[in-house]
Amino acid sequence: MKLTSAIISLPSVGPAYTRRLEKLEIFTIEDLLLHVPFRYLDFRNTKKISSLIPDELATVGGEIISIKNIYTKWGRKLQLAKVQDRTGTIDVVWFNQPFLVKNLPEGTMVLLAGKIGWFSRKKTLISPEYEIAKTAPGVHTGRLIPIYHETAGVSSKWLRTKIALAYPLIKQGFEEFLPQKLLNSFGFLSLAQSIEAVHFPKSLEDAQKGKLRLSFNELLFLQLSSLYRKEEWLKNEAAYKLIVDQKEVEAFASSLPFTLTSSQTKATEEILQDLTNDFPMNRILEGDVGSGKTVVAALASFVSFSNGYQSVFMAPTQILAQQHYETLSKLFSPYKVRVTLVTSEGIKKDIGKTDVFVGTHALIHRKVDFDKVALVVIDEQHRFGVEQRAHLIRKVGSRKISPHVLTMTATPIPRTVALTVYGDLDLSALRELPIGRKKITTWIVPLKKREAAYGWMEEKILKDKVQAFVICPLIEESQVETFVQVKAATKEFDNLQKLMPKVKLGLIHGKMSLKDKNLAIENFTRNFTQVLVATPVVEVGIDIPNAAVMVIEGAERFGLAQLHQLRGRVGRSFQKSYCLIFAQNTGRNVATRLNALTRPLSGFELAELDLKLRGPGEVFGVKQSGFLNLKIASWQDSKLIKKAKEVALAISQNPNDYPELTKMLKDKGIAPN
Ligand code: ADP
Ligand code: MG
Repeated sequence: MKLTSAIISLPSVGPAYTRRLEKLEIFTIEDLLLHVPFRYLDFRNTKKISSLIPDELATVGGEIISIKNIYTKWGRKLQLAKVQDRTGTIDVVWFNQPFLVKNLPEGTMVLLAGKIGWFSRKKTLISPEYEIAKTAPGVHTGRLIPIYHETAGVSSKWLRTKIALAYPLIKQGFEEFLPQKLLNSFGFLSLAQSIEAVHFPKSLEDAQKGKLRLSFNELLFLQLSSLYRKEEWLKNEAAYKLIVDQKEVEAFASSLPFTLTSSQTKATEEILQDLTNDFPMNRILEGDVGSGKTVVAALASFVSFSNGYQSVFMAPTQILAQQHYETLSKLFSPYKVRVTLVTSEGIKKDIGKTDVFVGTHALIHRKVDFDKVALVVIDEQHRFGVEQRAHLIRKVGSRKISPHVLTMTATPIPRTVALTVYGDLDLSALRELPIGRKKITTWIVPLKKREAAYGWMEEKILKDKVQAFVICPLIEESQVETFVQVKAATKEFDNLQKLMPKVKLGLIHGKMSLKDKNLAIENFTRNFTQVLVATPVVEVGIDIPNAAVMVIEGAERFGLAQLHQLRGRVGRSFQKSYCLIFAQNTGRNVATRLNALTRPLSGFELAELDLKLRGPGEVFGVKQSGFLNLKIASWQDSKLIKKAKEVALAISQNPNDYPELTKMLKDKGIAPN
């Protein structure tokens, strides 16, 4: 057995366990040993039975002198046992584990660890951890007991048992890859010591020290991967080095129906500067919903056009692609720029050669007559996989020749994440909204005021002639819309129809044809329908200025930044706008979190807050497999993230000073060969 051996090589791990462990991303023995506990139970307090005190956590050892299953009136099964040592006897109770009667028959010497409580008015050990006593120190008792992230059929107890079996490999298998000097200067334990310390800690401090070192490793590898990605990217040649004609750009900017905000101007300058380089741009443009990213991208695409090249806009949904198509066609119309729309439904094309392609991921799969593409713009980039992005870039470029790439996101990227995962991208940010946007009054509506809220909304619609969005709850963490989601939206639609018979409602979800979707949007835009019921997947980026009320159902399932983005769909006209937030679960934590939305916080601040409260998966709304999920370290630990960044830079500059590490990174595929 080696660290790299598949997990199935452990005793009594078969295909069933292998599948379950995949859910925890455990494939090899090494992965198992790097599955770090998130807390510990202190069972170090080893006691004689006669000296047990109620309410304390303790470990005792003794002999099972009786054990039996008992059936309660309510059909539950209890396991009652008596355990004896030289000083006395104690009752033990477990719930619903009938197999214990077989596993721990009378006469077994056991170790039990748990809380002393009361049962049937007698001092009793309640549901203790148990193991058959051997001479070696206990795995589940008598020490700090690690608690791991579990999955169905894989308990912490099971994990502890298997990790104990792999224990000999810790010292033989994990070779140190950082120089001793560096370990000393940070006060880090060695790799092997750290792994031993998290699974078999002598003290909580010991466990923490181990975890710190393993967190550092995780962050260091992330940093290094983004540094290597950057190095690789810079080896590319820009497909086309553009010339920026300042006068022409200014003329285009002044043809717009508004003046650019100062951050739009700054971002545009940064981007246009990149386009003149002979290596390709790789930049992310981050800006709150409605901050006006599209027009910035349009300016870049205009420069590409005036140099005689094409550009490509990829958006995550058909509706969004359609809207970009219309916006760009309008913006470009004085310049005779030919815009083509590419979706899975078909290709809509001007006569002659295309200058700007707009589309969904159909741009990747369809046969599209890309000719000289200088610029690729990817909107709401986190909705696409890394693969899709790479695919499109490869399709329009060639080996080692790449278009300039601009990705855009409305999701504010927390600083620590930007440093780490996006370390390879240059960042431009739109930190202000165009002037004239009004604050959106936001209410968290308690359950008992729900009906009243619908009444208020109906009146608002009928009297003030405003329109409203109703966003259905996010049902599954999935990038594609599922039928469950569609069913929920349809149900919501029927429900509202009954509640507001005088109001015309529209429905839009991802399983509708593009034609029906467009019809729903058009009916809403023209105020033929006053309420648009939509699934969360469809919503991104739709721009309907006349809507003034946003209702979000099942809000507790969304991240704060995502709710903020949804809310940004309203408040785009002279009308006073409102956001009504409904939550099914109104526990205290949910309320605290949602209440943040009633404060004047920016999307950026809300994202930082959510990162603290719920972790990164939620911040980005849609969970991508493993994307942004730290296994050991925390995004909150900005100090350690900075340290890792410094060390990563030093390593990438002087790889020869780190021979063991360099070899390991290559073996693991983190560093290019
Ligand atoms: P997002 O950043 O969410 O993609 P959009 O690009 O869709 O935002 O812009 C939102 C709206 O704001 C659009 O209707 C756009 O025309 C408008 N807009 C963009 N820039 C400005 C500006 N500087 N002044 C006023 N309105 C603007
Ligand atoms: Mg947008």
